Amino acid sequence: MAKVYKCPKCSKILQKKRIEYGLSSPEMQDDENIILGGCCITDESPKFAYQCFNCEKLFALDKGELIPFEEDEEIAEEDEIEKIDNDIETLEILDLLDDELF
Ligand SMILES: [Zn+2]
Repeated sequence: MAKVYKCPKCSKILQKKRIEYGLSSPEMQDDENIILGGCCITDESPKFAYQCFNCEKLFALDKGELIPFEEDEEIAEEDEIEKIDNDIETLEILDLLDDELF
């Protein structure tokens, strides 16, 4: 039987998932059993990640120890850009409201 790892934060059993490196297809992004590791792969890059059902945090194994694992950073950057766009939109709406007042 495979060793079971528990979330250091909430003690829930972690689900083992495969990490895929390189360019990802939309199918891979939708696949809950695959973690996207980004395009950079080194000899130290983990092949599997462990995800907590509860807090959804990702962990990788490093010499038998669980270490936090960050998902593909490119996706995180896209989220950031989206947030900035939303802020600009809000500012524009505020400007329009100001014009109506005068
Ligand atoms: Zn957890």
